[in-house]
Amino acid sequence: DLRGKYIADTIRDVPDYPSKGVVFRDITTMLADPKALRYSIDLLHERYENYGLTQIVAVEARGFLFAAALADRLGIGITLIRKEGKLPRDAYREEYALEYGESALELHKDALTHRDRVVVMDDMLATGGTMSAAIDLIQKTEATIVEAAFVAELLYLPGRKRLAEKGISSYAMVAYD
Ligand code: 5GP
Repeated sequence: DLRGKYIADTIRDVPDYPSKGVVFRDITTMLADPKALRYSIDLLHERYENYGLTQIVAVEARGFLFAAALADRLGIGITLIRKEGKLPRDAYREEYALEYGESALELHKDALTHRDRVVVMDDMLATGGTMSAAIDLIQKTEATIVEAAFVAELLYLPGRKRLAEKGISSYAMVAYD
């Protein structure tokens, strides 16, 4: 799809960020480009409009941006997965590994039920640690996960494989070999 190529061209490579040898894919330039932003939501909307979704689950923080626009387009709501300590009510918690140390994600226990069919949205699939934790959280609620969706994925890291091992398929608009 030519729109994927357009989006890819607006993402900026930042060498040696956050540490030496890592190339960070910076989507702030993609978000600032009206056509790239519109195309990204168009592609997501076209993919998911006939899936009978009830909620988009959004992973903090950049996942929120795409989830909000997509959910509005689909006429459904947004469920937030937040970094630890941000949700005010009783929440499930999943720890996950960061480059240095670990962190945790949380989801309100009553946010989803077995009647929900969701797509989980984040900006980037790298090692898959973040999305794995998000999926574990959603599975505690017995909602059905249709797919994990990303703006971009790094194919040289094991993210897609890790999610497939959990039985979850991934969709990304841009792929980096
Ligand atoms: P993972 O847990 O798959 O290793 O990393 C994915 C998470 O870290 C996502 O929430 C994403 O926002 C962030 N992330 C990791 N690498 C990059 C990158 O190169 N670019 C951007 N925009 N986010 C990244």
